[in-house]
Amino acid sequence: NLFIFVLSLLVALFLAGTPTPSYGLILLFFILTLAFGVLIAIPIGGADMPVIISLFNALTGIAVAFEGIALDNGGLIIAGTVVGAAGTLLTQLMAKAMNRPLRNVLFSNFGDSNEEASEIEGSITESDATNAAMTMGFADRVIVVPGYGLAAAQAQHKVAELTKILEQRGVDVRFAIHPVAGRMPGHMNVLLAESGIPYDLIFDLEEINPEFKATDAVLVIGANDVVNPVARTDENSPIYGMPILNADEAKQVFVIKRGQGAGFSGVENHLFYHENTDMVYGDAQKVLNDMIAALKTL
Ligand code: NDP
Repeated sequence: NLFIFVLSLLVALFLAGTPTPSYGLILLFFILTLAFGVLIAIPIGGADMPVIISLFNALTGIAVAFEGIALDNGGLIIAGTVVGAAGTLLTQLMAKAMNRPLRNVLFSNFGDSNEEASEIEGSITESDATNAAMTMGFADRVIVVPGYGLAAAQAQHKVAELTKILEQRGVDVRFAIHPVAGRMPGHMNVLLAESGIPYDLIFDLEEINPEFKATDAVLVIGANDVVNPVARTDENSPIYGMPILNADEAKQVFVIKRGQGAGFSGVENHLFYHENTDMVYGDAQKVLNDMIAALKTL
């Protein structure tokens, strides 16, 4: 990586000092920088990816600002600086939320460990929408953990309807949002806001984590990596150290997902094998629909 970086820098300096550079040299510069970008991104995996995407966005902004300086174009300078500054801030916030200093993200491969990840204990137990709905309907406190699958299923309006019904029954419903749930920062907040879920029901990771122990039932909807307890317990796991929502500490957990599909990081989720966890297989929208129908019969 260092070799390609130094080579690109030398070619860039040469190009800058040549009044009419050849197309071949410009092409070489693009190939070198492209290779540098790919080589930087390839070793970064697991849950670190959002941080690096955000960093690349920030760098794009800075590049545009420099272009503005070179072309003496005020518009490009302002737009580039705004994107660069916002992206840099976001990168820092995300790295902090993931408990990973930026230099670690860039220079040490996520999941470098040569050790074997810990064995999975327990077995998967399956339940259905009716059973999940009944447990929620008779619970005092429920926490909903939305993830990428909620967005993929476009089930945000269904979860809002379910929340209304549960609240009418006197159930205390809250939403736990992980900083990297979904596929972009703030993804879940936007979805929940769109479906009209009140802001005072939505809590960040630090606020909600102590609450799981006193919670009767957790409904995980299309979330996977953000509730994987190995991030807390298994030093050899590629996602070790990433803060997670402690859904496993609740009395009962229901996980809605379509099948055995892995999360973004590709790491097996030990929560699914816990004794207090039941899987409810199906598309999130359909399962939530069935849960609403079951609750309406009460
Ligand atoms: P995950 O990607 O870990 O898991 C999503 C789960 O949703 C899958 O296991 C999938 O299982 C299930 N799913 C998919 N479609 C549906 C559906 N229609 N109905 C029901 N379930 C469905 O999501 P999380 O939100 O838990 O975690 C986000 C991940 O994305 C993290 O690893 C994060 O690092 C990464 N990321 C986040 C970014 C951000 O800025 N927020 C940016 C880039 C990456 P199945 O196939 O079995 O249904």
